[in-house]
Amino acid sequence: MNVTKGQIFTRGITHRCPNCGAQKLFQEDSFFTLNPECPDCGLKIERDEGFFLGSMSLNYGVTLVGFLLPVLLLYLADVLSGTVAAIIAGAGAIGFPILFYRSSRSWWLMSYYFFLPHHLPANRGEPATGQDENS
Ligand SMILES: [Zn+2]
Repeated sequence: MNVTKGQIFTRGITHRCPNCGAQKLFQEDSFFTLNPECPDCGLKIERDEGFFLGSMSLNYGVTLVGFLLPVLLLYLADVLSGTVAAIIAGAGAIGFPILFYRSSRSWWLMSYYFFLPHHLPANRGEPATGQDENS
């Protein structure tokens, strides 16, 4: 296997192409738009309709556990007043998912290839362009 699970993990965490490691998952002129395919190796990044629905769930879960739960705990420990906690939670409930958007997409793509590393063209020994990812 050419690309190991460790490489897939580190590439996913750092928003890189799981196949070749290029840092080009997203278009250069947009914060939110994925490249349809990797400009370097041709790996198809845009997937079937609904593929990245899981990234939205991941984003929601990380926002809830990683941001809103600590704010709640600080409120319950009387570190934050109710008003301050409500303002921080409200702003964070909107802002955190926006800031975490790229990571959630990259992490979701990483999780797919982490569990199915043989689907990566580099591990099949074939060029990526024009291939069906599910074959
Ligand atoms: Zn690539």
